[in-house]
Amino acid sequence: MYDYLIVGAGYAGSVLAERLARDAGKKVLLVDRRPHIAGNAYDHPDAAGILVHKYGPHIFHTNSKEIFEYLSQFTAWRKFEHKVLAFVDGQLLPIPINLDTVNRLYGLKLDSAGLEKFFASVREHVDPIRTSEDVVLNAVGRDLYEKFFRGYTRKQWGLDPSELSSQVTARIPTRTNRDDRYFGDTYQSMPLHGFTRMFENMLDHENITLELGIDYRELKDSVPYREMIYTGPIDEFFDFRYGQLPYRSLEFRHETHDMAVFQPGPVVNYPDEKIEHTRVTEFKYLTGQKHTRTSIVYEYPRAEGDPYYPIPRPQNAELNAKYQALVNDTPGLYFVGRLASYKYYNMDQVVGQALTLYAKIMRQKRPRKGNRAKAALTF
Ligand SMILES: Cc1cc2nc3c(=O)[nH]c(=O)nc-3n(C[C@H](O)[C@H](O)[C@H](O)COP(=O)(O)OP(=O)(O)OC[C@H]3O[C@@H](n4cnc5c(N)ncnc54)[C@H](O)[C@@H]3O)c2cc1C
Repeated sequence: MYDYLIVGAGYAGSVLAERLARDAGKKVLLVDRRPHIAGNAYDHPDAAGILVHKYGPHIFHTNSKEIFEYLSQFTAWRKFEHKVLAFVDGQLLPIPINLDTVNRLYGLKLDSAGLEKFFASVREHVDPIRTSEDVVLNAVGRDLYEKFFRGYTRKQWGLDPSELSSQVTARIPTRTNRDDRYFGDTYQSMPLHGFTRMFENMLDHENITLELGIDYRELKDSVPYREMIYTGPIDEFFDFRYGQLPYRSLEFRHETHDMAVFQPGPVVNYPDEKIEHTRVTEFKYLTGQKHTRTSIVYEYPRAEGDPYYPIPRPQNAELNAKYQALVNDTPGLYFVGRLASYKYYNMDQVVGQALTLYAKIMRQKRPRKGNRAKAALTF
C-alpha cells in the first residue's frame, strides 16, 4: 500500500515525492509516462558526450532563498548569468533591449539619459495596456517593436502580439544601462552536474518507488494507494469534458558540430519571420563543459506536439477556470505544476508551488487537539 501515487516526475512531482518520503516518512509511487525523470528539465550526454537539454534550454534563476537552499541539498552549483543576442538587421544585438542595442542598431552614441529621452520620443502612449503589442509599443515604440518582438512573437505563438495577453511581453524588461543579463534574479546558477543528476539525488530514497515509461492510468486500478498528486494536463485528467486547453508546442533539432564554438553566446534569437526557427542554443555555455566539439539546438514553434506553453488568451483562461473549479471538490486528490495549473511557470515557481502544497498537506494531516488518536489511526 502506497500513501501517495504521484503522477509526473518533473519538478512538481519530484519535490513532493522527496518531501513526503524523506520528511514525512510516507511511501510514494512516482510514475512518469516518459522514460526518464526530471520532466522538461531533463538533460543527458548526447552521442558526442556533450550534456544537452532534450526539451530546450533550461536556465535556473530565482529570487527565493528558500527555493535555492532547498535545491542546494541535491546539487552543487555553477554560477551562470544568462545572455541572449538577437539577430536583427544583420547584427547580433543584446536582448533585453539596452543602451548598446539602441546605439549599435541606429549608429548612435547615447548615454543612459539620452536613451531615456530617445524612448520618450519613440514610445506610443497606450492606455489601458491590454495586449502584448501594447506593452512594447508603450515602452520602446514601433520600430524596435517590429524589429525585435513582432516577428518573434508571431512565430513563437502563431498569433500576432495584438491577440496575446500583456503578460507574454511584460516579462521582458527594457534597460537604459549596459546590463546585458537576461535575468535580474538574485540566484542565477546551473546545477554543476546537470538537472537530471540533481533529480536523481532528490529521488534517491527507500520510500520512493519509480515507474517510468508508463501512463498512470495503466496502473492506478491495480496498485493500492491512499491519495493522489497529479502533475499532468488538467483537461486530460477530466477527459476533456469542456474541450481541449490549447498549447503551443516546439520541435527541437539537435546538432553536433566539429568546432569548439558555434556562436558568440549561449542563445541567439531570430525575430525575422522569414527564418523558420526562433532561437539557437549552444549548450556548452550553459554547462561550462570543455569539449573539442559543440552541440546546439534549433527551436521550431509548432501548433501540434507536446504541450509546452499554455496560450495566454482570455478565452483560454476562462476554459481553464472551469477545469480548476472541478479540482477543489475531490478529497485526497491534489493538482500541482504547470500542466495541472495551465500556467507558464519557471522551474523555481513550480518548486515553490510544490513546497506550498506539501506544507498544506502536512497541516491537513496534523492531528487536531482532542482528536489525536483518531487522526493517527486514519492516516
Ligand atoms: C522550451 C522550454 C524552456 C524552458 N526554459 C526554462 C528556463 O530557462 N528556466 C525556467 O525556470 N523554466 C523554464 N521552462 C519551464 C520549465 O520547463 C517548467 O517550469 C518545469 O518543467 C515545470 O515542471 P512540472 O513538474 O510542472 O512539469 P513537467 O516538467 O512537464 O513534468 C510533468 C511530467 O508529468 C508527466 N505526465 C503527464 N501526464 C502523465 C500521465 N498521464 N502519466 C504519467 N506521467 C504523466 C510528463 O511526462 C512530465 O514528465 C521552460 C519550458 C520550456 C517548454
